[in-house]
Amino acid sequence: MTTSNLPEEGKKSLNFIENIIEKDLKEGKNNGRIHTRFPPEPNGYLHIGHAKAICLNFGLAERYYGKCNLRFDDTNPVKEDVEYVDSIMEDIHWLGFDWEGRLFYASDYFPKLWDFAIDLIRKGLAYVDDQPADVISAQKGTPTQPGIESPFRNRSIEENLDLFERMNKGEFPEGSKVLRAKVDMGSPNMHMRDPIIYRIINHPHHRTGDSWKVYPMYDFAHGQSDYFEGITHSLCTLEFEVHRPLYDWFIEQLKDSDYRPRQTEFNRLNLTYTVMSKRKLLQLVKEGYVNGWDDPRMPTLSGLRRRGYTPESIKNFVNKIGYTKYEAVNDISLLESAIREDLNLRSPRVSAVLKPVKLIVTNYPEDEVEMMTAVNNPEDESMGTHKIAFTRELFIERDDFMEDPPKKYFRLSPGKEVRLKNAYIVRCTGYKKNEAGEVEEIYCEYDSQTKSGMPEANRKVKGTLHWVSVSHSLEAEVRLYDRLFNIENPNEDKEADFLSFLNPDSLQVLTGCRVEEVLKDAKPGDKFQFQRLGYFVVDPDSEKENRLIFNRVVSLKDSWSKISSK
Ligand code: ATP
Ligand code: MG
Repeated sequence: MTTSNLPEEGKKSLNFIENIIEKDLKEGKNNGRIHTRFPPEPNGYLHIGHAKAICLNFGLAERYYGKCNLRFDDTNPVKEDVEYVDSIMEDIHWLGFDWEGRLFYASDYFPKLWDFAIDLIRKGLAYVDDQPADVISAQKGTPTQPGIESPFRNRSIEENLDLFERMNKGEFPEGSKVLRAKVDMGSPNMHMRDPIIYRIINHPHHRTGDSWKVYPMYDFAHGQSDYFEGITHSLCTLEFEVHRPLYDWFIEQLKDSDYRPRQTEFNRLNLTYTVMSKRKLLQLVKEGYVNGWDDPRMPTLSGLRRRGYTPESIKNFVNKIGYTKYEAVNDISLLESAIREDLNLRSPRVSAVLKPVKLIVTNYPEDEVEMMTAVNNPEDESMGTHKIAFTRELFIERDDFMEDPPKKYFRLSPGKEVRLKNAYIVRCTGYKKNEAGEVEEIYCEYDSQTKSGMPEANRKVKGTLHWVSVSHSLEAEVRLYDRLFNIENPNEDKEADFLSFLNPDSLQVLTGCRVEEVLKDAKPGDKFQFQRLGYFVVDPDSEKENRLIFNRVVSLKDSWSKISSK
């Protein structure tokens, strides 16, 4: 029997979770069913860490002919919102996964969870505690010291039932009472020390409105929701390992068959130079340190999408870092190289000049416009060619000219020759400065025998520059992004405010850039390699403001050092 659609060579390098699944399948566990879920709390936008969990859960379902549910763990109405629900669904689809109609909400199970809580009270396994949260927390003890039993621990079943009903009718203020599971105040596992399972919240829920005044804690909803849905493999991040005995305890009380979801923990994705906590991301958005959840500097999926990342590059990156049992921080440059690799294969090469200065080809006819052929992608011939207009007046990068260059400077300087990409070899004959002392115009002469196909075309010159025509180019704004934080791990110093590590230069807006005319119909999301500069994507603001706006996705590796070898 085929149990997976992994190619043979893929089977050799199974991760530890795949090994567990293969073993379960061999042993016929759950009758060969594989059922996972992705369980986000709709209290923020998804980030690249979530992509790791999404790729795992949906990916395993695909690989092992199983199913993967989408379940919103919406147990805290104060922090949750439909805006988040909608964005989460959009992002999962964008990554290329689908829950095939199996969309659930923990709030769907509120009635079942309520019944289960009543059942626990009836069995003498849950009680209403009137103490405030800080007292309960202080009584919890420490990992080496047992907790102290609440004076309300031995209330009668009748009184507990009555109080819990009245809590849900809104008779008591928030914080005045909680329902706790009666497990073991002496357990070495702190999570087993009579955890709170219900609290009073006077806030409408985005789906159930005002029907409930008590809400289950995440820990009381999560494991049972998996059980209700018939999940076979509950995959979550390592910090939940210590919660597992509690989830198992609940299921033990609930269970009416031999079936159990099996929880397996894997390491979180952490990235250098950014933060991944939703609380911190929310703060960046709310307090205006970034321009929204989809700011291209954010590690959110919507931010990465706007930055020009492709789903494939994110999936490749997640694959590369893999799944283990050890916490680690992943280098953001690995993510950057994943998008570079992807865009190298698929994005057309075009010319753009970000900081233009005029280059005048003095021996070129004034009104002539020559259409030069530019290869769209040297990695992929099938992407063809396009035309770029060559004229007497051009723009080149200001950085590509030096009046008085050091040795090994292979760009333009007085008396030196360079090749203009897809056009001619030119020799610099002079330049003019403005009153402020800035170079305003550079003059050169072209060698008409050096165009592609001509006798001198392959003459060796050290530097190749990109350029655009003054009359046949378009104006554009270009947004350059740098790392959001200026230290590798902004979470490292617990005492310091992570905001103090924000990189003040993470966004640089360049106006007055020039791009070649072939970009005139470029649409938001279209991606290009600007020769020698990097990969760029059209920003959605372009359409809104009816002008060309590009985001830099990522620079080219060693962009300037390559120049002499072209
Ligand atoms: P936060 O702690 O910032 O609120 P969270 O982990 O609580 O985030 P959830 O919405 O509960 O966010 O996460 C949904 C799923 O995604 C969970 O199964 C969680 O384990 C997983 N997940 C969240 N962050 C990461 C990460 N950085 N790497 C891998 N998986 C993650
Ligand atoms: Mg969570």
